[in-house]
Amino acid sequence: MEYKIAVVKGDGIGPEVVDSAIEILDLIGERYNHKFIYKEVLAGGAAYDAFGDPLPKETIEVCKKSHAVLLGSVGGNKWDNLPKDKRPERAILGLRKELGLFANLRPGMLFKALEDACPLKSEIVGEGFDILVVRELTGGIYFGESGIRETDNGPAAYDIETYSEMEVRRIAKIGFEMAMKRRKHLTSVDKSNVLESSRLWRRVVNEVAQDYPEVQVEHMYVDNAAMQVIRDPGQFDVLLTTNLFGDILSDEISMLTGSIGMLPSASLGQTSPGLFEPIHGSAPDIAGKGIANPIATILSAAMMLRFAFDLKEEADAIESAVNKVLDAGLRTADIRGKDEDFLTTQEMTEAIKKTI
Ligand code: NAD
Repeated sequence: MEYKIAVVKGDGIGPEVVDSAIEILDLIGERYNHKFIYKEVLAGGAAYDAFGDPLPKETIEVCKKSHAVLLGSVGGNKWDNLPKDKRPERAILGLRKELGLFANLRPGMLFKALEDACPLKSEIVGEGFDILVVRELTGGIYFGESGIRETDNGPAAYDIETYSEMEVRRIAKIGFEMAMKRRKHLTSVDKSNVLESSRLWRRVVNEVAQDYPEVQVEHMYVDNAAMQVIRDPGQFDVLLTTNLFGDILSDEISMLTGSIGMLPSASLGQTSPGLFEPIHGSAPDIAGKGIANPIATILSAAMMLRFAFDLKEEADAIESAVNKVLDAGLRTADIRGKDEDFLTTQEMTEAIKKTI
C-alpha cells in the first residue's frame, strides 16, 4: 500500500526527532512492504522565517491532501515577541481547525523500565498503568464566547463553556471505539454536580454507551478524577473528557510517566487526515545538540500506523522495540539516572531500528 504523509518538522528539536521517526517508518515500510511517500512542508517559526506566515496556505493544502500529518514541534524564544497571529503556536491551532481535528488522544503509560522516574510510590503504581486520555479538542470554554462586561463591581471577564449534543456524541463515540480496542472500560469525567454543560455531556455519553454494551462505563467528577489519577492510576483505561478538563488531566498524567520525551499524541477528525505529534515542545535549550529523546515522536509514528492506516502489527512492532530497548537499559539524557551513560538521538534511533 502507498501512504501519503505530510511532514512538518517544525522548530528546535522538531527536525531532529522527526528525522528519527522517518528512519523508523522507512524500515517498517521495507519490512512490511508499504510505501510511505513524504511531502515536507513548513509551519511554525520556520514558516514565519521563510514566508512571514506561521501557517502558509500550501502547508494546509498538502496536509489536507495527505493520509496523515507527522509533526515535530513548533516555537522558540526567537519568535516570542511576534504579534499573536504570527506566532508559531498559531500554526498548531490553525492546523487543528483546518483539518477539523476534534479528538485528541494522549496515552499515558508507565514504561516498566522507567518506573524510578515516576514520582508516585511503588505501592501506588503497583503493576503500572496504561491510560488513554480522549480529550475533546475544538469545543468548550476555549472556543466559547468570551469578553469583559461592566458590572457594579467594575469590569468582569467571562468565558463560556458550551457543548452541543453533536460535539459530545462524536467525541464519546471515539472514546468508546478506543475502549473497544483496549480493556473495554471508559471513565467519563465531568462536573455535572455544578455545570449544565456537564449534565448534557453525561446524558449524551450514556446515550452513546447504549451502542457499546461491552464497555463498562463510569462517571467521575473532575475534582475526584484529579485525585484518583494520583491515588490509583491503574484503575483507568480510557478517560473521556472535555477540552478544559482534558488539558489539565492529560498534563497531570504525563508527569506520572517520568519524561515528556516519551509520550506521543494523535489528533483525529471525522474524515480528515489525523495529526500525530509528540506532546513535548521544541525544547530550544537542547536543540542542535543531538541529544533529544526521539521516542515520543517515534511512538507518534506508531500511533499514525495504528489509527490512520490501521496497521496494527506494524505499530506493535515499533512499540515493542521501544520497550525492549528501554528494558536493555538504553537511555537518552533526559531519562538516564544520575551519572549513567546516555545515547544520542541518532544512537537511540539506531538501537530501536536494530530491535525491530
Ligand atoms: P518543551 O516541551 O519544549 O521543553 C520542556 C523541557 O523538556 C525542556 O527542558 C526540554 O529540554 C525538555 N524536553 C522536551 N522534549 C524533550 C525531548 N524530546 N528530549 C529531551 N528533553 C526534552 O516545553 P517549553 O520549553 O515550555 O517550550 C518550548 C517551546 O515549545 C515554546 O516555544 C512552546 O510554545 C513550544 N511548544 C510547542 C508545542 C507544539 O508544537 N505542539 C507544544 C508545547 C510547547
